[in-house]
Amino acid sequence: MPKTNKENTVAVKPKQTIVQVAVPTPLRRKFDYLLASEDDHERIQVGIRVLVPFGRTTKIAIVLGLSEHSDVPANKLRPISKILDKQAILPLDIIKLLNWVARYYQHPIGEVFQTAIPVHYRKKEIPFATEEIRYILTQQALDNDWTTLKRAIRQLSLLKQLQTVPKGLTKEQLSQKQEGQWQSALKALIDKKWVKEQVSLKAKPAYSYLYGEEICKHSALILNEEQERAVSALLEKADEYHASLLDGITGSGKTEVYLSFIEYQLQQSRQVLVLVPEIGLTPQLLERFNDRFNVTIQSLHSGLNNTQRMLVWQQVSEGKVRILIGTRSAVFTPMPDLGAILIDEEHDLSFKQQDGIRYSAKDIALVRANNAGVPIILGSATPSMESLFLCQQGKMSHYKLRQRAGKAKPPQVHLLDVRGQYLQHGLSQTLINLMKQHLEKNNQVLLFQNRRGYSPVLLCNKCGWISHCHRCDAKLTYHRQHHRLRCHHCQVEQELPAHCPECAHVELSYLGIGTERVEKTVRELFPEVEIVRIDRDTTQRKGTLESMLERVKDGQQQILIGTQMLAKGHHFPNVTLVAILDIDQGLYSIDFRAPERLAQLITQVSGRAGRAEKKGQVVLQTSHPEDETLNTLLNEGYMGFAQKALAERKELLLPPYAYQALIRAEANKTSDYQKFLDACFQVMNQIKNTLLQGNDSQFLGPVPAPMEKKAGKFRGQLLVQSVQRKNLHRILHGLIQTVETNKMAQRVRWSIDIDPQDLY
Ligand code: ADP
Ligand code: ZN
Ligand code: ZN
Repeated sequence: MPKTNKENTVAVKPKQTIVQVAVPTPLRRKFDYLLASEDDHERIQVGIRVLVPFGRTTKIAIVLGLSEHSDVPANKLRPISKILDKQAILPLDIIKLLNWVARYYQHPIGEVFQTAIPVHYRKKEIPFATEEIRYILTQQALDNDWTTLKRAIRQLSLLKQLQTVPKGLTKEQLSQKQEGQWQSALKALIDKKWVKEQVSLKAKPAYSYLYGEEICKHSALILNEEQERAVSALLEKADEYHASLLDGITGSGKTEVYLSFIEYQLQQSRQVLVLVPEIGLTPQLLERFNDRFNVTIQSLHSGLNNTQRMLVWQQVSEGKVRILIGTRSAVFTPMPDLGAILIDEEHDLSFKQQDGIRYSAKDIALVRANNAGVPIILGSATPSMESLFLCQQGKMSHYKLRQRAGKAKPPQVHLLDVRGQYLQHGLSQTLINLMKQHLEKNNQVLLFQNRRGYSPVLLCNKCGWISHCHRCDAKLTYHRQHHRLRCHHCQVEQELPAHCPECAHVELSYLGIGTERVEKTVRELFPEVEIVRIDRDTTQRKGTLESMLERVKDGQQQILIGTQMLAKGHHFPNVTLVAILDIDQGLYSIDFRAPERLAQLITQVSGRAGRAEKKGQVVLQTSHPEDETLNTLLNEGYMGFAQKALAERKELLLPPYAYQALIRAEANKTSDYQKFLDACFQVMNQIKNTLLQGNDSQFLGPVPAPMEKKAGKFRGQLLVQSVQRKNLHRILHGLIQTVETNKMAQRVRWSIDIDPQDLY
């Protein structure tokens, strides 16, 4: 059911109304206020913003609820200073969702609300585009004798006019109907309280969501059998909460399945929310959606400025936009007619926010769909272990697309053992020969190297000096184009030294390979061939990524070099050879999720090859051809790998078979974060032993973070793990209360990461 703003108006006429609000502050609680005047009684409602006194300042808060009771003694309650909105900026379903977010992520509720609304709403007066002032008659006017106005012809005329329209008239409507000096007459009537101004929503124009005749611009492709099966299963559960995983290899036509499902939702006059991992993916998807549907489609992503974001947000909230395609934070957008949620590339790490509120947009979307009673579809060629686990448990349906749609064939993948081979700046001779063969056939080649810059380390051949960042436990990367050394962790930069800063020796070596170096090498090897490097350094300017991708799409005989930006979603029909230059980088990591990430990366990058009629080939350069993850993946495919990985996690009781939270702390000194985390350990251990009778929860640490020093701060962490989510949350809840009341965190900045996705 669409949620209208009417539901937000709570009729209250108690003696005392307590207004419960979310104030942007790091305190983890709601705050109670009183109403300032009689007048406020009529205007207060859940979801609007109010100005409240807070300490010695005032803050903009959002009304979460109205009640007759408060735990705060009446004489301590202060009145709100001002009501800022005439209509709710957040509907009840989003308020409920954000309350859940605050509880689940153990985050201050005021900050949660602050994050979820457009930046402009953090400032004072922002009128909704759809608000208007109407003039209506008061009871007083109706009770009085109008003959006293015999000589005030204009006032009388206004009254008669307004009498016929109970919901009142706007200034524009009045000026069409009245003549002469009606404005002063209106003012006189307002002064004597016979007419009052009322702010209301503009009547929605009889708005057609369609700008063409039909929802679809053209008929869909004829779906293949697998697609057909997935679509009809999805449509069976299209009007209720139901979670589905669309597990389809790259090029299997998942997007076509989404489109068919969305078409049904649009026919039911519903809105659809589509979440995507990154802005780079949005233009392509937007194009495909626009190509298909005659409805308003908008996207929300970090490339928009604050005003653009707010406009889209408002249009979606008003129901004018029927399909919203957005990144992570779009999950909070109010949608009055929400009919379904889709999450494309659901395995992608970028659905998890990595600072502030470390929320997972995917998990929030699942909760939102459940609250709203609408279906949710997660799509990926490399589903996350969490989603596969939900399928195993029967909480999510699993639909598989195993054939490439159209004529494309899946690529051949093999390992290229580079032990004992001479590598020319990262390229083996075997690979160079293969590149030649593919280029000769006028095809394209994609080289993947997940590291930008020229080389990650600069070394003095004489004294062994290494280009360390003085603010991080990391090395400075040499960027050849700008002749500078840069830290990829704190953004520190310096000139490339002409000689060793320690011993003044002039021969410095560049160790390791970045995309710039690959580009230089390939240019020398293939001077005739057009080369495109796609990484964060070459695509900083707005629009460059899109134009590069366009050029690649149209071209022949090109070499593409890129970081993981190239692994995602893009469609390169002429690429027939994909090479991952250094797969070993990903093989050894302390993070238990590393094999999953590696398998996803390899599968995703491989998926870029041979998407059209030409058959593709994928080559992985490695010095560890015996590695188990690699071999399982090659011989048994991603699903084979996933089964093994899940079995392993089950045995070791790791997520998704257990729940984790990571407590992070940073300070100016190691001893400060250590003291804090030790204290956390004690507190949690006590809660565990007293309240929870020593349940299964475990504490691992405190330990220094894998990169202990970053941007001049020292960082440590403490991992909490439990087989029962409830216990984990009770322990953390108790911990937060103790930390806040005992002022334990005076020398540290700390945060809690619920369901951490990487342990850094
Ligand atoms: P995915 O999202 O799974 O990577 P896409 O939906 O992008 O796959 O489909 C890959 C390609 O196959 C696209 O060019 C698409 O137009 C085409 N395609 C998808 N379904 C069909 C179909 N049923 N018949 C013909 N071509 C199809
Ligand atoms: Zn030196
Ligand atoms: Zn640094």
